[in-house]
Amino acid sequence: MTIQYTPMIQQYLEIKERYQDAILFFRLGDFYEMFFEDAKIAAKELEIVLTARDGGSNKIPMCGVPYHSVNNYIHKLINRGYKVAICEQVQDPKDAKGIVKREVTRVITPGTILEDYMLDESENNYLAAVVEYEQKFGLSYIDITTGDFWVTEYSGDNAYLEIENEILRIFPSECLISSPNTLIKDTKFENIISTNFNNVDYIEDFEQAKQVIKDHYKAEITEELNTNYSSTCIMSIAVIIKYLSETHKRSLKHIKQVKFYKESMFVELDFVTRKNLELIYNMKERKKDGTLYNIIDKCCTAMGKRNLKKWIEQPLKKIDDINKRLDAVEELRNNLILRTDTKKLLESIYDLERLVGRIGADIANPKDLLALKNSINKLPELADLYSSTHSEYLTKIAELDILDEISSFIENSINDDAPVIIKEGDIIKKGFNSEIDELRKLKEQGSQWLIEYEQKEKSKTGIKNLKVSFNKVFGYYLEVSKSNLHLVPDDYIRKQTLANTERYITEELKDFETKIITSKDKLFELEYKIFLQIRQKISENTSRIQKTAAQIAILDTLYSMSETAYINDYIRPQLNSEGTIEIKAGRHPVVEKTLANARFVPNNVDLNMDDSRFLIITGPNMGGKSTYMRQIALLVIMTQIGCFIPAEYANIGIVDKIFTRVGASDDLASGQSTFMMEMTEVANIINNSTKNSLIILDEIGRGTSTYDGLSIARAVGEYIHENIGAKTLFATHYHELTSLADEFEGMVNLCVSVLETGDQVVFLKKVLPGKADKSYGIDVAKLAGLPKEVIQRSNDILVHLENTNYYEYKQDITQLSLFNDDENIVVKEIKKINPDDITPKEALNLLYRLKGLV
Ligand code: ATP
Repeated sequence: MTIQYTPMIQQYLEIKERYQDAILFFRLGDFYEMFFEDAKIAAKELEIVLTARDGGSNKIPMCGVPYHSVNNYIHKLINRGYKVAICEQVQDPKDAKGIVKREVTRVITPGTILEDYMLDESENNYLAAVVEYEQKFGLSYIDITTGDFWVTEYSGDNAYLEIENEILRIFPSECLISSPNTLIKDTKFENIISTNFNNVDYIEDFEQAKQVIKDHYKAEITEELNTNYSSTCIMSIAVIIKYLSETHKRSLKHIKQVKFYKESMFVELDFVTRKNLELIYNMKERKKDGTLYNIIDKCCTAMGKRNLKKWIEQPLKKIDDINKRLDAVEELRNNLILRTDTKKLLESIYDLERLVGRIGADIANPKDLLALKNSINKLPELADLYSSTHSEYLTKIAELDILDEISSFIENSINDDAPVIIKEGDIIKKGFNSEIDELRKLKEQGSQWLIEYEQKEKSKTGIKNLKVSFNKVFGYYLEVSKSNLHLVPDDYIRKQTLANTERYITEELKDFETKIITSKDKLFELEYKIFLQIRQKISENTSRIQKTAAQIAILDTLYSMSETAYINDYIRPQLNSEGTIEIKAGRHPVVEKTLANARFVPNNVDLNMDDSRFLIITGPNMGGKSTYMRQIALLVIMTQIGCFIPAEYANIGIVDKIFTRVGASDDLASGQSTFMMEMTEVANIINNSTKNSLIILDEIGRGTSTYDGLSIARAVGEYIHENIGAKTLFATHYHELTSLADEFEGMVNLCVSVLETGDQVVFLKKVLPGKADKSYGIDVAKLAGLPKEVIQRSNDILVHLENTNYYEYKQDITQLSLFNDDENIVVKEIKKINPDDITPKEALNLLYRLKGLV
């Protein structure tokens, strides 16, 4: 039997057919309802009641949420990775013959969110697309809240790894993989990043891609894209544009320039390195505590914070470009007044990038326009502040496009206290539109009429406490208390009885109401229309506002770096292209801030391309080796983003890539063991580093047997030194490796120093030339609180191991019950002896006995 559905459910099903992969929010009066499977999912995810409704011949599952609180529910579903399609009534029910017309007006997905409340203001929210075309891969990504749009391409054997690495950097909340795409076949994308991957197949060929772009951008921009971008890039740009037009169903006017970049423009930092160095997020979770970003971030605006994050992840390679940033930081660092005034002004500038996004996407409200105006109003003062600066970045601020006509346009058109709601009037400023002014006058006259009418009725009836009031259900009415009911005239029409009062209407009052309500409706409608025109007019200036916003973001980042330099006592590093890295009294920017009771011990480093290219660092556990090596990598990164650094002096040779291999970690998700992961990372370093790279190897070969590990560690060290020539810091507990320094010119031994007093060791955290003679592992175990029996036993075993082969010794140690009764039995035997009471013969026998015990 075929199921019969009601006309409304049939309408629902027709619409749902086109949005299979989304949860359809179907507007019914004051609610959004969900039906069938969607209802079951939503009820569970949103913890709302699942009911049933008559759908025709059968009952169908249903749940719903009130329209005024829909945002919270959408937010929850998006956070859990669902798409939501919003289906609105697009016809006034009064005009509908039969079922009111409904359409999906927007599809909300994790990568296409525009609403601020769903997003972290200090992070970009990216939508990415990967396309394979003409044996190349195009990768584009966009933050639609700001219009930040980038594209790049990959080819060759390493393409997959490079794309994977870049996606991990971008961390899009949604990634479109356009098919056909060989990446899809063997990617483990889903395993590497917890984002939403969508396979899409709607750009069929290059012609269609060009058409999509032409429809969005106008002719001139299409020309520019054609000349400056490859067809692979254009294909991936088109996928993004098409997806946005399908989800937003309107043109997003702020999506303008697409910026082409090549990863080789920046220092290459792979995912493992970014993670190990805790640049933006700490190792434990995706949080910013304990990271380099956290230390440098003194930004006053969300724009600055987002830009700072980008700079940290993409250090520069050209000395001139770095110096330009350093010049600006230095000038700001040295000028306290300039810094203070800049902070004050930046703090009163709103997130211009996101405001422009809201304007371009037609969702900006009157308050957004006021925020834009108030921010723009700070620009002349800001430009003025920088009028006598010298460095290139800062003098550009003096020439900032201060957008004054936009601000005066808003000033003249929008009320200073305009509301957020756009359909209830009070938006347009007096004097901007004469028709609005006329309608308002009518409204004001209405209020005066009401006062006079109330007065008139009071004296006519003699009811002193008669009151004219209004409510949404009855409109205007006259209220009379019970004690005065006998005075009510015959022409009063009773409307409602309350406990102590009666409510009436009159013909005159009704006429007035019709007139006033019509003019109020007209006023609201007109204000709404004019507001849309104002918003449209401002949106024609999005490119200009975006340009100014980008400069403010950069200024804020430079300010942040200069403020950090001042507060933390950083210095300006010098730069060289000879590959020398010389740092005097360098400090780890994060560790120096986290030491509660101890002072950070500064250390030097001297790396060059000749006799000090490969540093072998030995020394005790807890000695500070990892901190030292990471510190050097961080100081190089800070330098190359244009930041001052914690040191007394530094001359940094520009590096092209930084690699780190630190500690042990399993990658169970992709089925890799600890040692396998370690070797994969080492292989990646060996295959991709160049002589201009900086490599940090913190222990390698520890995840396997001693001899295997030692052999691998030595072979890797030799290979890097001889075949790659990259500057390398190599920390190891294999003391055997220190002999490399005797064999290879360019390898140098360093060790972290220790002070031994009695049975106490103090780690001095000072890195000095030379090699360590022991590990102090057992001392660290003692500090960590291992039971004293274990410590003592370890010491005994260590002494034996140092004098013998472990395999021979194994037999012996199992016989040695050194821990019997808590104490070494040899010691116990000795304790029993009183040397004064025994004869020489007994002493000799005793000696034989003791010898027999060990
Ligand atoms: P292991 O060999 O066990 O990995 P390690 O030699 O790498 O140890 P680190 O982890 O670098 O030692 O340092 C141990 C602790 O010592 C750090 O957590 C830090 O708090 C502190 N530390 C490191 N370097 C310094 C320094 N230069 N000044 C002060 N404290 C430091």
